[in-house]
Amino acid sequence: MPESPLIASVTVELLEGTLVARRIREDAAAAARAFSPRPRLLVILSGTDPASETYVAAKTRAAEEAGIRAETVRLPAGAGPDDLLGAVDRAKRDPDVDGVLLQMPLPAGHDPALVIDSLDPTKDVDGLHPENVGLLHQGRPRFVPCTPAGVLALLDHYDVPLAGRRAVILGRSGLVGRPLAALLTARDATVTVCHSRTRDLPSISREAEILVAAIGRPGFITADFVRPGATVVDVGINRLESLDGAPENLRASERIRAAIAARGRALVGDVDFDDVSRVAARITPVPGGVGPLTVAMLIHNTVEAARMRRGPAEARS
Ligand code: NAP
Repeated sequence: MPESPLIASVTVELLEGTLVARRIREDAAAAARAFSPRPRLLVILSGTDPASETYVAAKTRAAEEAGIRAETVRLPAGAGPDDLLGAVDRAKRDPDVDGVLLQMPLPAGHDPALVIDSLDPTKDVDGLHPENVGLLHQGRPRFVPCTPAGVLALLDHYDVPLAGRRAVILGRSGLVGRPLAALLTARDATVTVCHSRTRDLPSISREAEILVAAIGRPGFITADFVRPGATVVDVGINRLESLDGAPENLRASERIRAAIAARGRALVGDVDFDDVSRVAARITPVPGGVGPLTVAMLIHNTVEAARMRRGPAEARS
C-alpha cells in the first residue's frame, strides 16, 4: 500500500494524482489497443541510481499494463558517452520504436545537452529535444514533458481556475519549472518563476494563488510561504532514510517517522504537508500526487507518438 499523508486540516482538498492518473492511463490503454503492432516505448537507463531504477520500473510496468510494448535499455555504470549516444542512435533508426525516454539525471561524465540533441524529436516522449521545447514555447506543443503535463492535467481535473491567476513556480529546470511556466502562461495565468538566486522567496510565494514547488528540498515550503486559500502542487520527491539529517520542521512528523521505521525510508515532497495543509485550500500529497501523473503522461505521450508517426489507428484498421 502507498503511504498516505495525514490530512492536517478538515477544509483542505486533497488533489489525488493517483485517481486522475488512472483515468489517463485507461484512456491511453484504450487508444493503444487500436494499434497493431502496439505502440513501442524504449526507456534508456544509464547507470545504477536506485531512484532512477525505481522510476523506470514503475514506468515500464505501467506502460505494459496499458498494452504498450515497453523495454528498458540498460547501460552499465561504466558506459561512456559513445555507448549512450549509440543506444540513442539505434532507437532513432529503429522504425519499430515509437517513443524514447531518456531517464534523467544522466550519470556524471555525460553531456545531457549532447544526448538530448541526438534524440529523434518525433519519438521524444518527454519533450526534451530543442525542437519540442521550441514548439512548446511557441504555444503549439508536440510532446509536453510528462511532469508539467501531469501538473496541468491535475489542475484541470479539479477545475482550478488558471486564467488571470497568479502562479508562482519554484524551480526553473528544463524538465519541470520552465515547461510548466510555458504551459501556465499559455493558459493565461500570470507566472513568476523562482530559483536558488531569487531574493525573498517567501513573500513572492505568498502572492501565489497557485504555488508549484519543484526544487528538491525536503519540507522546504512551510505555511509562511503560502497565501491562505492557495492551491499548492508539490512536485518534489525526496528520499529520507533517517530523521537525523532531516530539516527541523519534518523531525516531529509521526508519519515520516513511521514510514522510516516500516520501510527504511520515507518519500517526502518539497512542501511540509502537515504545516501547509493548515492554510492551503488544495494540496497534492507525496506520494500519490504528481508522481503517478508523470507516469500516466508518459503512456499518453507514447500513444500520441504512435499516432503521429503511423497515422490515426482507426484509419489503418
Ligand atoms: P533540478 O534540475 O535540480 O532543479 C531544481 C530547481 O530548484 C533549480 O532551478 C534550482 O535553482 C531550484 N532551487 C534549488 N534550491 C532552491 C532554493 N533553496 N530556493 C529556490 N530555488 C531552489 O530539479 P528537477 O529535476 O526540476 O526536480 C525538482 C524536484 O522534483 C526533485 O525533488 C525531483 O525529484 C522532483 N521531480 C519529481 C517528478 C515527479 O514525477 N513528481 C518528476 C521530476 C522531478 P537554480 O536553477 O538556481 O539552481
